[in-house]
Amino acid sequence: MSSSIVSLRDVTKEYPDSPQFLRVLSGISLDLAKGETAAIVGPSGCGKSTLLNIIGTLDRPTSGTILFKDRDLHDRSEADLANLRNADIGFVFQLHHLLPQCSVIENVLVPTLVTKNADHAVERAQRLLDRVGLSQRAHQLPGKLSGGERQRAAVVRALINKPSLLLADEPTGSLNQQGAEQLAGLLLELNREEEMTLVVVTHSEEVARMMGRVFELREGTLHERAPQHG
Ligand code: ADP
Ligand code: MG
Repeated sequence: MSSSIVSLRDVTKEYPDSPQFLRVLSGISLDLAKGETAAIVGPSGCGKSTLLNIIGTLDRPTSGTILFKDRDLHDRSEADLANLRNADIGFVFQLHHLLPQCSVIENVLVPTLVTKNADHAVERAQRLLDRVGLSQRAHQLPGKLSGGERQRAAVVRALINKPSLLLADEPTGSLNQQGAEQLAGLLLELNREEEMTLVVVTHSEEVARMMGRVFELREGTLHERAPQHG
């Protein structure tokens, strides 16, 4: 049995209708195994979010293949992909996207409303909120929280359905250096505890170096850095 979570084969992404024909990704291949951690770095506008969204099935490639747990997603309907995402892929964005009128725990439980295995969701939410140091904040509105606390709440929401893949697009982008490294450290601890594969797009070299693998996106192609030791 393969332990591959996601594989990209020769993925390209073009925006033919943009003012200038734009080929953002040109031939990306990538394999991420269960439990791996990876950072994607590269200059602003180089296509990191495009790549992450394709990995997460929020966007489709122009050509190439995506395998999620060895299943080809090519001819899946949007509804199928939405179900797959909700059940098995967690997303954290630079801005937390918490619903301002709902409490922290209500926000965290939103993804469980549409899954059938919502049993024990409240207990899991409480356990995870406790795990990230937010148990005292569960019934407060996001507006009462600090930036770091909101991102931790967004992480819990992303994990509530036990995804096998967590995708984070500049999750530390709104935090200071210390907050960024703390959040990245928490993501790594959760990666081990929850056994999910973790992909983080980041501007921070420090955050990137914390991940098991580092990929640089340059002019549409992906270059894996040699592993660093020590
Ligand atoms: P990054 O996350 O690395 O900053 P993005 O993936 O957001 O980069 O964008 C890569 C390039 O693709 C940018 O030049 C951006 O303007 C362009 N782009 C992104 N989405 C679209 C779209 N829907 N239509 C046209 N161009 C787009
Ligand atoms: Mg981006």
